[in-house]
Amino acid sequence: MPKRVSVSVRNKLPQPKTLVPNPKGTALCPSCSAIYERKRWFENQARARELAADRTVALVRCPACARQKANYPEGILTVTGAFVAAHHDDILHTIVSTSKRERAHDTLCRLLDVRASREGMTVTTANERLARKLGHVLHSSFGGELTFVFSHDDRLTRVHWNRDSLGRESARTVKKR
Ligand SMILES: [Zn+2]
Repeated sequence: MPKRVSVSVRNKLPQPKTLVPNPKGTALCPSCSAIYERKRWFENQARARELAADRTVALVRCPACARQKANYPEGILTVTGAFVAAHHDDILHTIVSTSKRERAHDTLCRLLDVRASREGMTVTTANERLARKLGHVLHSSFGGELTFVFSHDDRLTRVHWNRDSLGRESARTVKKR
């Protein structure tokens, strides 16, 4: 069964603040070797090797790895429509290449999961910025409709991109009266 991040499941998970506390000082992520220094997370292999050799440096999982492990995304992008099925590979390529580019600027911009759904694709991201960016790039590349919904309760940003919702209407006609 596909994993879904439903409201009831999310309520049982730790709140984002306790899930991803900022380290007190310099820290190294044991999962991806991201570094926390001067109040931000970034990647630098040479510096990561230095820090790994220093036993006084705290090992703290970075927010992206913590969210990956807990299956607790900050952004969810859904893409739907007839166009999506017909251009699956182009859209997937756009999502993956945009994510790589964004991660080069900000290590916390990471894809957590990409899944096919009946109506298109569902993509989860470690931070909301990447979900928004993906929505904007798909919209500017292929047109369609883009919507954003931000939930203050759980700090979750939902981005929905739709391009030609032809299949949806016909699927809905099977309905009991
Ligand atoms: Zn990490």
